[in-house]
Amino acid sequence: MTAQASAQEPAAAAAAPKVSVADGIKDVMRRIEEASQRSGNKRTRLVAVGKTKPLEAVLEAYQVGHRSFGENYVQEIVEKAGKAPEDIQWHFIGHLQSNKAKALLQGVPNLYMLETVDTTKLADRLNRICGELGRETPLRVLVQVNTSGEESKHGVEPSEVTALAAHISGSCPNLEMAGFMTIGMPDYTSKPENFTCLKECRRKAAAELGLDESELELSMGMSGDFEAAIEMGSTNIRVGSTIFGARIYPNKK
Ligand SMILES: *Cc1c(COP(=O)(O)O)cnc(C)c1O
Repeated sequence: MTAQASAQEPAAAAAAPKVSVADGIKDVMRRIEEASQRSGNKRTRLVAVGKTKPLEAVLEAYQVGHRSFGENYVQEIVEKAGKAPEDIQWHFIGHLQSNKAKALLQGVPNLYMLETVDTTKLADRLNRICGELGRETPLRVLVQVNTSGEESKHGVEPSEVTALAAHISGSCPNLEMAGFMTIGMPDYTSKPENFTCLKECRRKAAAELGLDESELELSMGMSGDFEAAIEMGSTNIRVGSTIFGARIYPNKK
């Protein structure tokens, strides 16, 4: 790098305008619309993921008409939901330990969808708590699938998806078996395989359970790959940093 280039870099970064959350949402909506035009997939919901960001950022998006929001941590979603308008449709997208299920369901009565069911134990626990709390409508849940085979990822193996989906739809009357979710690999070029795998899981489970495939959701696609995911049929994309800016994790160990 030349001395001149390195001298210019910090100034260029400082001069970059800060994009507002409202502009971030509008820009993502425009990109969704374009991907939807290209692919003919007209039914993708945008879940704006506000984890680690203050409630004010979420409300900025709310003020421009956005209603679907996602959070990863029980304590954070409970705090935000308690102070936010009731017509927000909250999605829980983080790993959920069974012993925190009650705090989540009690703390977020307007929880719209829980995207990360990955054991029968968790499904049974959620089903029981929904009953105890007297929820009026079944809770929509997605089965999280580990489509990349990485040890670090939560989710059931593709071969176990149908059994868990069958358990939810057959034995958990307080849950609605609403579809499938995956995170996939960070490496963009590997993702099509992960997304194809999720679609295949849905096809098999729908056939086995006698359900209409088009009524089961595919939650796939994040900031780096949501357009590709829409083109592959995603019905639910989860976008955080492209809307709210990069996340900073203080004291991350
Ligand atoms: C954080 C997170 C997202 C959003 O990620 P971005 O890359 O910031 O868009 C989506 N899905 C899950 C499960 C997440 O944890």
